[in-house]
Amino acid sequence: MINPELSRIVATLEELPFPTRFAVEVCSDCNLECIMCHHPNMRRPKGRMPFELWKICADEIAALSPETQCWFSFIGDPFLEPDRLLQMIQYGKRAGLRSLNVNTNGMLVRPELSDRILDSGVDLIVFGIDGFYRETYEKIRVKGNRDLLYANVMHLLVERQKRHYGPEIQVQFIEMAENENERDTFVQYWLERGATIKLRNKLSWGGQFETSLEIPKQERIPCPWATTMMHVYWDGRIPRCPGDTEGEEGVGNAWDEPLSILWRRLGQYRKIHLEQRFEELPDRCRDCKDWMTGAAERINLVSVNDN
Ligand code: SF4
Repeated sequence: MINPELSRIVATLEELPFPTRFAVEVCSDCNLECIMCHHPNMRRPKGRMPFELWKICADEIAALSPETQCWFSFIGDPFLEPDRLLQMIQYGKRAGLRSLNVNTNGMLVRPELSDRILDSGVDLIVFGIDGFYRETYEKIRVKGNRDLLYANVMHLLVERQKRHYGPEIQVQFIEMAENENERDTFVQYWLERGATIKLRNKLSWGGQFETSLEIPKQERIPCPWATTMMHVYWDGRIPRCPGDTEGEEGVGNAWDEPLSILWRRLGQYRKIHLEQRFEELPDRCRDCKDWMTGAAERINLVSVNDN
């Protein structure tokens, strides 16, 4: 019997004419050295995405699939480049994109930026936190400062509350051995303060990191990342695998070809996944556990009151 959650996910997977999620590497630098992130060992050149490149991508997505979720994050924290990030969000909104989302470690989401963030048109901000107590947080999010981060998130929540509108604010908790006793305290704390809690399993990033997930190979499902998602690095390169942090296997560059052509080129791999011919996949996919990760769980006051 296949795992019920994976069974539910697999029923949603099909060949798509365009990705439903598009991740944009605003910049590839980061201020933290988190234990579950590849960034500290990154070898490829670092840089910042030229605004012109985002315009090309945003215009095409707006024309072909405005509902596609655009995620401003990959390797690197986008708030290292706040002006560029907010300019990109504003352009995306004007172009007609309906889902503009940011993933951040939150250390640089300082109170003085809150008005500009709330006015930018961003739909969702996810703060990667993963710990409630300082010792745990700072063990996972190396170089982070727990109290400063909590104050940043609180300030944005309060400012959003004052306006009675604004983006959804999620606080993410990646479940791992280091924080296993803090989940409930974390959930309760942020629920009382109006945030949505996002709980998810640890990713292996294409087999690079150990995770505790264990599902027998015969229950394997098509990779939900590869079949729904496309990433673009700051320099326009598009990797085959959304977990490929170094660009070891690329399919082209968004400067040179439309995203729709590059997505079509990736179709040969999606076909192998969707037809479950897993033994024909490239080596990276063989040991990867990311297909096991499952969907993130989201908890907010509405979902709690509904139960
Ligand atoms: S299964 Fe393959 S495509 Fe999917 S994340 Fe893993 S390595 Fe990447």
